[in-house]
Amino acid sequence: MSSDKNVQQVVQQIKEADAILIGAGAGMGVDSGLPDFRGKAGFWRAYPPLAKRGLRFEEMANPRWFHENPELAWGFYGHRHTLYLKSEPHKGYKILKNWGHKLKIPSFIFTSNVDGHFNRAGWSEQVLECHGSLMRLQCLEACGQPIWEPMDKGIPLVKVCPDSLLCTSSLPTCPSCGSLARPNILMFSDFYWDSSINLKQERTLNSWFDINASKNLLIIELGAGISVPTVRFFCERSMKEYDCNMVRINPRDYQVPKGSTALASGALEALELLDLMLWK
Ligand SMILES: [Zn+2]
Repeated sequence: MSSDKNVQQVVQQIKEADAILIGAGAGMGVDSGLPDFRGKAGFWRAYPPLAKRGLRFEEMANPRWFHENPELAWGFYGHRHTLYLKSEPHKGYKILKNWGHKLKIPSFIFTSNVDGHFNRAGWSEQVLECHGSLMRLQCLEACGQPIWEPMDKGIPLVKVCPDSLLCTSSLPTCPSCGSLARPNILMFSDFYWDSSINLKQERTLNSWFDINASKNLLIIELGAGISVPTVRFFCERSMKEYDCNMVRINPRDYQVPKGSTALASGALEALELLDLMLWK
């Protein structure tokens, strides 16, 4: 953990904040037991059948598999969907939600995570999922069917063979045209990602900034890595644009731009410590 001085400073910033923007990357999910896809080794440890095929994350997260091998595509995403459903958002989500309630200040989430865990932790409208969500589906053939959520949100979308990672049940289909469905996630080389919900979330965030950016805004970035740096860039850009405080919480790659604070720690560990000190 970082120096006491940095922790004290962040506690003070939270106390004085009128609004909090939370930027969350993969490191936020790791503390809920979700796999870390960083690097080839980490990804293949989580998915031995893909190691056998020699497929890296960047190669697997490509919409072409839904056309070329739908059973493998849905095996991969179906397995992740079930994993996200079965894992509980860790205590850090509750801590963040509680700060908003107790301090009576609004918060907004900007996340690259597709696990839907912020929604489950109580943020409904105040979330921008910059890479979409595995909890929503779209038509592979872009027939005009709007993005939809599965009928029963609490059950796995498909059955997956753990040895082959192939889908063994029927594949999800579009309710309008009957074509194959795919997750509403932004993949690599993804020209057909339906961004309509994302754009709506962007408009909501812009309105939130209109109301809150002139106040004492604090940005808290959690577990946002450098390999896909969307969340980091967004937090840094917002900090400069709105001339506000920012804290970067990350066990690695915690260098910060001038004027912001770094806590070298995992997300849950830092949130628990800050929470403890906040109410002392
Ligand atoms: Zn369709």
